Amino acid sequence: MKRWMVICIVLPMLLGFQRQQLVNRERMTELFLQLVQIDSGSENEAEIGQFVADLLKRIGAEEVLIDDASEKLGGTGGNVFARFKGTVSAPPVLLSAHLDTVAPTKGIRIVRTETEIKTDGTTILGADNKAGIVLIIEAIQTLQERNLPHPPIEVVFTIREEKGLLGAKVFDKTKLKARYGFIVDGAGKPGDLIVGSPTHFRFEVTFIGKSAHAGVEPEKGINAIVMASEAISAMKWGRLDEDTTANVGVIEGGQAMNIVPDRCRIVGEFRSHNPKRAEGLLAEWKSICEKVAQKFGGKVEFSAEKSFDAISLSPNEPIVKAAMRAVESLGLKPNLKRMGGGTDGNVFTAHGIRCLVLPTGGENYHSTSERLVLADFYAMGEILVRALVELAKGNGSEK
Ligand SMILES: [Zn+2]
Repeated sequence: MKRWMVICIVLPMLLGFQRQQLVNRERMTELFLQLVQIDSGSENEAEIGQFVADLLKRIGAEEVLIDDASEKLGGTGGNVFARFKGTVSAPPVLLSAHLDTVAPTKGIRIVRTETEIKTDGTTILGADNKAGIVLIIEAIQTLQERNLPHPPIEVVFTIREEKGLLGAKVFDKTKLKARYGFIVDGAGKPGDLIVGSPTHFRFEVTFIGKSAHAGVEPEKGINAIVMASEAISAMKWGRLDEDTTANVGVIEGGQAMNIVPDRCRIVGEFRSHNPKRAEGLLAEWKSICEKVAQKFGGKVEFSAEKSFDAISLSPNEPIVKAAMRAVESLGLKPNLKRMGGGTDGNVFTAHGIRCLVLPTGGENYHSTSERLVLADFYAMGEILVRALVELAKGNGSEK
């Protein structure tokens, strides 16, 4: 066969595969529209949790359960966990999205055009993270219907993500055998692959001085606000380097103009892609606060907690390679990125499950101008399905 003949036959076949549409777009849109009608602000996830648990059963999960997370966290509903068989013997992969949304959600009115789904502007849409739930469910259905090779799948739909990854934190991670995971959550374009997320510390500092009449006997007082301001000005804030940010977010104290204030409370955070740097900053900040309190003859109460651990994936890890190949199979360029925030992926990664965050095709999250860009949403469906097929190819042997 002449070379031009080979090109004429093989090239269209390759392009055909690239453009082959695997996911069912109508089904994705329909499920998304159903889910956004279920009000599911944080602490109110029972209804949506039951809905997706029933759906997971209907599409063939081996096991589905709703945990008792709300007993620990308050509110209603629990994390939804499901397990699906794979077609290859490979370690399971985790697929996770969150069930809760930010407010306001009540009385949602949907505006749908050819290219996007949004609201009338009075509520959020909830594509964060209902689009993620749809992508995961559609990927599982597509793999099954088209008999595509895939590893065993563990699904966790979490509650209270928006309140500080709380559902994921209390979820019993010993249920999970996965070593890799896709967290399908967040804004971004098809091709964006989030491989890095910072370590995050929250701190709360209260300076304690002594109150006194500000005009009559100020020398008997110790001004807690002055202590706090001296400590704050001794520290650097904002973007400290490429990896690191620091912020004072809340300051409160004092009762009246003419009283030397005896208490001043500060709340803030440190984030860094370099966990040691975040720990170092926290230690530096604590020492500054203590020195200032000592200098003034006051006291300081210092508390800090790690909200989540960093994610840092290398391009050579199987989960990253699989996602990159999936993106390339659609003729797109993989864009490995880091994010400044955290997702449930930080919690699962700390438990030893290497998580990559995939965007969902939405925009303007956490605002009433939130919208779902349908072309991106469908493309993310293709990427997730293809990434799962790639994971099976790379990791497993046929069963
Ligand atoms: Zn989210």
